[in-house]
Amino acid sequence: MARSYKILALIGDGIAEEIVTEAIKILRTSEETFGFNLEIIGPYPFGAKYWFDSGRKTAWHPEITRDLIYEADGIFKGPVGLPGSLEDVKLNYEVGFLPVALRSDLDCYANIRPCRLREGVKGVLAGKKPGDIDFVIIRENTEQCLAEATHFGGISDISGYFKRAGKIELAADVFIQTTKGCERVIKYAFELARKRRGAPIDGKKRVTCACKWGILRGDSLFKRTFDEVAKSYPDVEADSAWIDGWTYWAVMRPEFYNVVVTPNQYGDIISDLSGALQGSMGLAAALNAGDQHAFAEATHGSAPDIARKNIANPTSIILSMGLLLNWIGEKHDDSRLKSAGAVIDKAVDVLLSEGKVKTPDLGGSNNTKQVGDAIAEKIKELYIKNKA
Ligand code: NAD
Repeated sequence: MARSYKILALIGDGIAEEIVTEAIKILRTSEETFGFNLEIIGPYPFGAKYWFDSGRKTAWHPEITRDLIYEADGIFKGPVGLPGSLEDVKLNYEVGFLPVALRSDLDCYANIRPCRLREGVKGVLAGKKPGDIDFVIIRENTEQCLAEATHFGGISDISGYFKRAGKIELAADVFIQTTKGCERVIKYAFELARKRRGAPIDGKKRVTCACKWGILRGDSLFKRTFDEVAKSYPDVEADSAWIDGWTYWAVMRPEFYNVVVTPNQYGDIISDLSGALQGSMGLAAALNAGDQHAFAEATHGSAPDIARKNIANPTSIILSMGLLLNWIGEKHDDSRLKSAGAVIDKAVDVLLSEGKVKTPDLGGSNNTKQVGDAIAEKIKELYIKNKA
């Protein structure tokens, strides 16, 4: 009997329930259309709301065990976190910064965040049209500001507070970069550049290292490692920019960029900028990937301002799902999952270019479910068209 793939689905907070429902719909559609078997486990709730509902005892549904997390072929989660809970120290420590802990625990060292202005989407930059913006951010996912925050990494109890008479007088955060951590994510970026079309401006395959070398030790290690790794990829242009300069150029000349590799925190910040560059956070997909495990989540947060209104754009998590299916397909050399990943992306392109079904963030008046239904229909149509 054909192998089935185990997918663990986690809900999260805010808009998570609305968009995770649509992501599952797309998984079911892909399964039926491309003929593979998925065992979808869950979706189980977890996160800040669960924490408060449980009387501040646990943030994880009891069915979500460590064994299950390790056994899954892939995981996907809705965004997690509610304003007001961020400084709940007990919540943060007990649940180990939920999504952050998963990244580190599963060693998903590359956070892949594509940024593409698609046909049918009104860009925010004057004069930039679809095709001008098409780059991927590869954010190192387990080190720098997260090396200690995860509580699961190899380092702990370096950062902290100094208290006098019960009052915090000093706060210290230690950023850690390792040669191994830098090297593997930079190699990942160069390998990805080899597979991608080149930058829109000149068709060149290019990797840009964005950090602040020469000022910070960790960033200097990142840049030195980048220069070393680049020597093994003479077919890919090695470019570098200080991170502050990069944000300027990303707005002024986004078409220059192809693959951008950064230490953790910069990657986090510029991913939201790239959410704006592609027209909405509701289109910003992401995959956390390592050599053995991967989990998908959208770039954005729980969007409490639009939660429970059924207007959140599910496209970001659906595209993230496509990245996950592709990753599983590559790992197991299963062309059905790789095709599903590519068709999900194409289905979004077609739907957006038609411009008939869209949520309010893109200027439309459709709801979350209608967009999920429409993407599912496009997947089926494209499959039939490709077969014909
Ligand atoms: P956010 O990303 O949730 O929202 C920023 C803006 O983008 C809001 O106006 C929101 O309505 C909009 N937006 C986001 N997703 C959208 C979608 N799918 N469709 C349409 N519009 C969308 O950022 P925030 O408000 O700063 O954070 C809210 C909470 O999310 C915080 O508690 C934060 O800690 C958490 N957070 C979680 C993650 C994660 O789980 N990976 C990431 C970032 C923030």
